[in-house]
Amino acid sequence: MQTSQIYGPTLREIPAEAELVSHQFMLRAGLMRKSTAGVYTYLPLGLIVLHKIMAIIREEMTSAQGQEILLPIMQPAELWHETKRWDDYGDEMFKLVDRHKRQFCLGPTHEEVITALVRADVRSYRQLPLRLYQIQNKYRDEIRPRFGVIRGREFIMKDLYSFDIDEQGLHESYQAMFQAYTRIFERCGLSALPVEADSGAIGGDATHEFMVLADSGEADIVYCSACDYAANVERAEFVAPDVHTITNDSANSDCIQELDTPHTTTIDELTSALEISADKLIKTMIYLADKKPIAALIRGDYTLNEVKLQKALDCQELVLADAQTTEQVTSAPVGFAGPVGLSIPIIVDYSVMTMSHGITGANQRDLHLANVTLGRDYQATAIADLREAKSGDPCPHCSEALESARGIEVGQVFKLGTKYSEPLEATFLDENGKKRPMIMGCYGIGVSRTMAAIIEQNHDSDGICWPINVAPYHVIIVPVNYKDEAQKNVADAVYRQFLDAKVAVVLDDRHERPGVKFKDADLIGYPIRITVGPRLLPEKQVEVTIRHNKEQLTIHLDEVLEKVSRLLYG
Ligand SMILES: [Zn+2]
Repeated sequence: MQTSQIYGPTLREIPAEAELVSHQFMLRAGLMRKSTAGVYTYLPLGLIVLHKIMAIIREEMTSAQGQEILLPIMQPAELWHETKRWDDYGDEMFKLVDRHKRQFCLGPTHEEVITALVRADVRSYRQLPLRLYQIQNKYRDEIRPRFGVIRGREFIMKDLYSFDIDEQGLHESYQAMFQAYTRIFERCGLSALPVEADSGAIGGDATHEFMVLADSGEADIVYCSACDYAANVERAEFVAPDVHTITNDSANSDCIQELDTPHTTTIDELTSALEISADKLIKTMIYLADKKPIAALIRGDYTLNEVKLQKALDCQELVLADAQTTEQVTSAPVGFAGPVGLSIPIIVDYSVMTMSHGITGANQRDLHLANVTLGRDYQATAIADLREAKSGDPCPHCSEALESARGIEVGQVFKLGTKYSEPLEATFLDENGKKRPMIMGCYGIGVSRTMAAIIEQNHDSDGICWPINVAPYHVIIVPVNYKDEAQKNVADAVYRQFLDAKVAVVLDDRHERPGVKFKDADLIGYPIRITVGPRLLPEKQVEVTIRHNKEQLTIHLDEVLEKVSRLLYG
């Protein structure tokens, strides 16, 4: 291919709307263009990269006994009513109505459609296991689409669904996918970490997310360098303290005592006014759980994780109460809430169980209480793990200090069990002729998101540094002046030589200044640049630049194909 023929104009300026490096470079390098908020068109170079990622995914899915199908984007509402997700899914689902007033959605995910497909065709255990997958557009009406394709409203996903006869079969499917995912991300040039994730209502060790570590990531994770433990902060668990120590400690505690604390409504103001550290405080937060007020308590120096709280409460909706509600519930302004005398449910984090001299709000303006003790001064409706893990916390496997990082989720593997097969009645007859629900798993990869994640991990200030397996082309030949007869002849000959050797090569045939051509080559991120210029040409030599480390080599024309091939393919 010649660059003059490639439709993919590069941009010098950083587009104002692009916060993330991957988003900036995908626009600047001419890989994609925005159509409307959260919806993108892929241009030729971007589409080549996507297809390369898809090819790697397809190979690994085939190796793991996956069979590719293509499910519809448009899905009937009736199916989603069967699993009660039509209403539960919320505003993120794009809904539409046809001329007969029948309702449909644009698939945000495909569990319903595929389960309905399999239930209609599979009758016997002999037809199982099945691993079916597709690579397909998905739709989510994000309230705030951002970060380019990382959080778009239309995006490409690979989703595989496994159907097994029992838990053992599901375990094997899960392991097969877990290993396939590890290979896929490795082949894409990504270092992705499988982390334990929260599995919501299903529970257990039923899900892992594959995270690409990047400071720009939206997910908070903790991991242990001493062992292989890694988890989402929502998932990382703390164990309940020993009950005996608590009882003894509480018995020795002093009586409750009032503290005048004028104008101290924040943890910082309180710790400096009372000259104490935050771990002596009990934070009391008022939330609305399914619109009913509750109080959540945690030690003052810890952060409460709302995903954990929501799980402990088993509620659909959880929001921090506004000032007005807090004042109604506690009879005090915000900042003076405490558990003593509250008549709403009180959910207590493990960290508060061992506190016998805790300081809390008194539910009265400018007043706090000291020596507040659980079980004596107030009762807990429930005690749960509400604390968000952070770096320095002990690893639950080996007790070493955890480290924290941010990540971009590129894949997730999930044991569904009978969550969909039961309501949708996807059953089979086992060896004894008994009807049983299929045991399912689902396994997703964000394909367009993977492309962005690759750029997040492989770039420098000049542009993208594509890993070889996903680079749109492997080599670009840049004549310094294509109008110069000698340079043109050599550049054309080298180009022809690489084409004949089936190397993915591009010739920059544009009549641009060399600086412009070099900048574009770096921005787009061709792994190897061969520069044909007047300085080396009399010696029958060219300059070879390796994109990712900027190393430059002078190579004789007779050896250029062989040496560059070795640099590229080893
Ligand atoms: Zn560990």
